Amino acid sequence: MIQEQDTYKDKGARRLLVKELREKGIIDEKVLEAIHKVPRHLFIHKDFRSHAYQDKAFPIGEGQTISQPYTVAYQTQLLHIEPNDKILEIGTGSGYQAAILIEMGAKLISIERQEKLFEKTRRLLYSLNYKGEFILGDGSKGYESAAPFNKIIVTAGAPKVPQNLIDQLKIGGTLIIPVGDNKVQTMHTIIKKVDGSLEDIELNQFRFVPLIGTQAW
Ligand code: SAM
Repeated sequence: MIQEQDTYKDKGARRLLVKELREKGIIDEKVLEAIHKVPRHLFIHKDFRSHAYQDKAFPIGEGQTISQPYTVAYQTQLLHIEPNDKILEIGTGSGYQAAILIEMGAKLISIERQEKLFEKTRRLLYSLNYKGEFILGDGSKGYESAAPFNKIIVTAGAPKVPQNLIDQLKIGGTLIIPVGDNKVQTMHTIIKKVDGSLEDIELNQFRFVPLIGTQAW
């Protein structure tokens, strides 16, 4: 990345963001390290650049948003990423969450349904040297041809847990998904146990844009 794209000022702002996330309860040092490394200001429109390290969501076009850093850190912390985990992300959006996962050593496959966002974000991620597989399609069906996955993360609000995503999880795998109505969703951590049964843990509430597709809204 060329120097002017990521200045000392940006790096300083990231340090303050990390401090803020720590105060808000993010304790996984690997997640905080990734937040410290990934230049969020390059994933949003330049008009918002001076606000990039505020803990806020911003519009990214096509009626979509880049999630707020706390939400990204919260979901990532729940994934307990191990190097080389094969992870499916549903909702590539700006690519910021994808960059965090790749930075942490994940083998990432990320799906986006909006063609314009998909094209723009894929170009950006490659230009910043974040290597993953980026797919245009309906992620509510999962991604059968690369299944099973160690972890699946859904970054849009679902009305229910799509069965395909459960089916595409490895034994011992984890699915992180916000489930609820169009106003508020509860974060779920779903673990597929050795006997194939599911442990479903309900966590905090969030507000996401809707997951739209055949197994969604
Ligand atoms: N992870 C993103 C980021 O870091 O910017 C969050 C983006 S936004 C909160 C959620 C994204 O999910 C949107 O870009 C939206 O188009 C996408 N989306 C919604 N339904 C989808 C589906 N069925 N398959 C793939 N992407 C979907």
